[in-house]
Amino acid sequence: MKHKKIQASVQQRFLEKLVLLWPALKGSLALVHKPCIRPNCRACARGDKHPNYLLAFTQNGRRRCLYVPRSMVPVLARALKNGRRIEQLLYEMGPALLQEYRQGHPAQTGPALKTGLSTAKKRAPKS
Ligand SMILES: [Zn+2]
Repeated sequence: MKHKKIQASVQQRFLEKLVLLWPALKGSLALVHKPCIRPNCRACARGDKHPNYLLAFTQNGRRRCLYVPRSMVPVLARALKNGRRIEQLLYEMGPALLQEYRQGHPAQTGPALKTGLSTAKKRAPKS
């Protein structure tokens, strides 16, 4: 423990946040009103359709929908919120990983980038 870094790694911090963001999903929750399949339904006879929640999501590139039991609605709403938070976390990982790399390699980023650019310039044909 003596030799452990004071600051947690990007991976450790990411995983710690990720654990707290379960359940998580990507998709959308929609409230729809549809007639049911029961014969002689009074509500449908009155023209009052039944409210139902649907979860829309993409699976293998295809748009799909599933009925959601009413008691699952708060859970899925939280999962959607967590899904957006995880997506935001992933966007933050690029800068965080590069920053972590630079802290371990202070002198290399600048000159390496310059070399890459000048090499590309030399290769470009003059007209
Ligand atoms: Zn009905």
